[in-house]
Amino acid sequence: MPSKGSTGNIRKREDPILRFNQKIYKQGSCWNWTGSINNKGYGTFGLSFGWREYTQTYAHRYSYTINKGLIPKGLCVLHKCDNTKCVNPDHLFLGTMKDNTQDMISKGRDKLWGNPMYGESNPASKLNTAQVLKIKSSLDLSGTLAKRFGVSKSLIKMIKRNKIWKHVKPLEVLEKTNEPKNSVRSSE
Ligand SMILES: [Zn+2]
Repeated sequence: MPSKGSTGNIRKREDPILRFNQKIYKQGSCWNWTGSINNKGYGTFGLSFGWREYTQTYAHRYSYTINKGLIPKGLCVLHKCDNTKCVNPDHLFLGTMKDNTQDMISKGRDKLWGNPMYGESNPASKLNTAQVLKIKSSLDLSGTLAKRFGVSKSLIKMIKRNKIWKHVKPLEVLEKTNEPKNSVRSSE
């Protein structure tokens, strides 16, 4: 039933993270993606930025970003579990294209976890990168976001207008060029 709201806009503003989480089917410890799968076996996820832009990203890269933080430029998100459809952040780790080898998986992967890569370690920061990314990619009103993240509305507005946290750019998630061609086929 159409809303009689004063704006006349009855389209619901969708929370992309909520929508993302609804497409996960947990099987064992893997979180299998039930959305679209590309021809290489990776899940894909459509995202809107602002009001008009729509684009697609890899589901596992999106999962990494919302759960662990931004993917540094040039790095890949690799699977520990040999399941390209899996988006469980605990099964994902960062590596370079060259790391995408058996050697990397068998020797070096665990070292990546302790590596402080993200700016949220700044003690003055009230938010972490993942939260800022959620704010930037959300279409919700500033007031709603302020309540959700327990910060002021003006802080949300500054983030949305790119006055602060400029280095967090949701579109970076969407780069497809970093994706390894044989990402998970190399274990064992
Ligand atoms: Zn998995």
